[in-house]
Amino acid sequence: MPIAGAVDPVPVPRTLAPRPDGLKDLVGLPRAAIADLLAEAGLADAKQAKMRSRQIWSWIYNRGVTDFAGMSDLSKPLREALADHFVVGRPEVVEAHVSIDGTRKWLLRSGGEEYEMVFIPDADRGTLCVSSQVGCTLNCRFCLTGTMKLVRNLTASEIVGQVMLARDSLGEWPSQPEGRLLTNIVMMGMGEPLYNFENVRDALKIVMDGDGLALSKRRITLSTSGVVPMMERAGAEIGVNLAVSLHAVTKEIRDEIVPLNKKYGIDELLKACADYPGANNARRITFEYVMLKDKNDSDEDAHELVRLLKRYDLPAKVNLIPFNPWPGALYETSTPERVQRFSDIVFRGGISAPVRRPRGRDIMAACGQLKSSSEKMSRAELDRRAAEKEASW
Ligand code: SF4
Repeated sequence: MPIAGAVDPVPVPRTLAPRPDGLKDLVGLPRAAIADLLAEAGLADAKQAKMRSRQIWSWIYNRGVTDFAGMSDLSKPLREALADHFVVGRPEVVEAHVSIDGTRKWLLRSGGEEYEMVFIPDADRGTLCVSSQVGCTLNCRFCLTGTMKLVRNLTASEIVGQVMLARDSLGEWPSQPEGRLLTNIVMMGMGEPLYNFENVRDALKIVMDGDGLALSKRRITLSTSGVVPMMERAGAEIGVNLAVSLHAVTKEIRDEIVPLNKKYGIDELLKACADYPGANNARRITFEYVMLKDKNDSDEDAHELVRLLKRYDLPAKVNLIPFNPWPGALYETSTPERVQRFSDIVFRGGISAPVRRPRGRDIMAACGQLKSSSEKMSRAELDRRAAEKEASW
């Protein structure tokens, strides 16, 4: 049932249960909240708490320390008292896979639920693809995550925790500005980040904090399938690069591939892109376009894509993604010749449209292939679930 308000209601069946040991995880909390907790626990007065929170912050986000005993500039009694009240947590690693192309995928668990993150190393960068939800309320039809129900939003701690875990795994502590392997973050894992806005915002603020993980906002990209009412707020309050899952240029096809289009159509979406704070020719908006054979890959589609992006005068680049198949998928990938021709037309229209090389397909880590359980469903069950989700918006 629709609920009045600017933001869509998102069914979130379960919230994260408190830790069974009663300890509070400090990861994902702003410095001021850490100071408040120290004061509340009687571990410091207000003034000291501020200073201690800065020291603890540095140990957590600069040095990657997870054991209070290692925080050597704090007194021993304070370290022991901290361990009685708090933890510096990490998601549990359930499985880790490495692709033949070097892509790594982790199946993670926290609060009893599982989600995935992927690290994609390149010659000049290393990109971590981070999840924002367990499952997803949307059901983009080319996406395996879309076949899952939404279990819950990930907390800021679980979102930052993915970055921390990747740093652990890559041996990137202490934090250093030069020579990092993990240089970029994309919020393109499981879930729609703008349906978990506050937690994503709070997590990315910590990731961008110059006294800690210190990733520049220019190296972070948030991807949305087009939650129009939240886009301006995302630009104003987070300010990272924007990627939009466009995938089609006509109402008919986009309604099918990205059903959220029935709610926020292409024109409304592109208008919101034109209004996105901070987008300019130096920080272009990326339009993701999955190439589906005989569905959205014609010459006419390519010309229409150019026309639409120019009509809104968007500082745009297009990423063409050959479809990454999964069992039960409705689509096939376009031929390499078709993808190249599509790319050439868009380039000739004056818009950069590189073809993304599929990464991690052999470990099901490529775009649209993330799913946290191996449940097998029939076509009828997949269709039923998709219809159920659309009815809930
Ligand atoms: S593409 Fe993103 S928003 Fe769409 S179903 Fe998959 S995870 Fe959800």
